Amino acid sequence: MTQRPFLIGSEIYRTSSYGRRHPLAIPRVSAALDLIRAMGWLEEAQYVDSPRATPEQLARFHAPDYIAAVLQAEADQQVPAEKRARYNIGCNGNPVFPEIFRRPATACGGTLRAVELLRDGGTVYSPAGGTHHGQPDRASGFCYFNDPVLGILAMLDRGLTRIYYVDVDAHHGDGVQDAFADDDRVFTLSIHESGRWPYTGKAEDRAGGSALNLPVPAGFNDSEMASLFDDVVLPLAARLQPEAIVLQGGADGLADDPMSGLGLSNRALWRVVSSLMGRAPRLLVLGGGGYNPWAVARCWAGVWAVLNGIDPAAPPTPAAEAVLRGLWWNRSQGREPPERWLTTIADAPREGAVRDEVRALAAAAMGSTDVVGAES
Ligand SMILES: [Zn+2]
Repeated sequence: MTQRPFLIGSEIYRTSSYGRRHPLAIPRVSAALDLIRAMGWLEEAQYVDSPRATPEQLARFHAPDYIAAVLQAEADQQVPAEKRARYNIGCNGNPVFPEIFRRPATACGGTLRAVELLRDGGTVYSPAGGTHHGQPDRASGFCYFNDPVLGILAMLDRGLTRIYYVDVDAHHGDGVQDAFADDDRVFTLSIHESGRWPYTGKAEDRAGGSALNLPVPAGFNDSEMASLFDDVVLPLAARLQPEAIVLQGGADGLADDPMSGLGLSNRALWRVVSSLMGRAPRLLVLGGGGYNPWAVARCWAGVWAVLNGIDPAAPPTPAAEAVLRGLWWNRSQGREPPERWLTTIADAPREGAVRDEVRALAAAAMGSTDVVGAES
């Protein structure tokens, strides 16, 4: 239990791309890892190179014909119209690219390796994981395979019976909620922006009692995130007494992210991480969305620092500043990045009033009789 955290990565995230114009055509995992190393926050013994999940491993959740279609797309570098429609690949943000199988399969392999490392307890961070929209038989929302689901299934296969999945990505964790909607061993909680794609995860959606959804308004600030954790997420952890917590730590809820209207600083996500530490014998932290390379790299590097008991609100070392100055973003905001993206790791706090609608979400969630462990 005193084992130091492990960090799982792979060079495939540096050398592959979804294509120039895709929102994910930015350095994310590689940038975070470079920043972590440049800050001196990683002992090499903590680093684990990710294996690639095999088609057989993926078939624990995904349909064999779908897996075969993704493999074929990698071989052919194109998808016939019939399969495009059937599997949602080659369209709708799920492009065919040279590593269309290998890259997502590596993210799944990393999460499965994490579950092995967590067998007797501990903490693992796999920032390439968190592809929470992946469906059993089709791609969705830039996600080809669903590594959180595969990781949780691996935990269940190892005999765990109480797993708490917490998703703070700006988008609803639909694929994970749906996968475990009928499984009382897994409780999924998602905090996401109201009214945003995939438009699921309404507050009244409880997936038969095994899920909780907290759709939050645009402008959601650090104080509001802290209040939802203190009033809902952490009390539920106390009730559940989970054997493992899986955190999907998408960075697209940051104010600097272009894909959501949420207004968080990276300090809010670091508090999310620190508040979940010690609440279960196993903590698996994954990545997720995040579409501003500077925001993602600084946030996720800081997540790793927090997991190691290091204060991430430190000035970047010269090597770290060089990493930040070396990042690029094919968007107008990337042409002249503000100085704070280059010379700081921590954002300024974005505190504010906790709005009534956020308080009402928490009250409704904790007042409902079907919340896990509630006396009724
Ligand atoms: Zn997202």
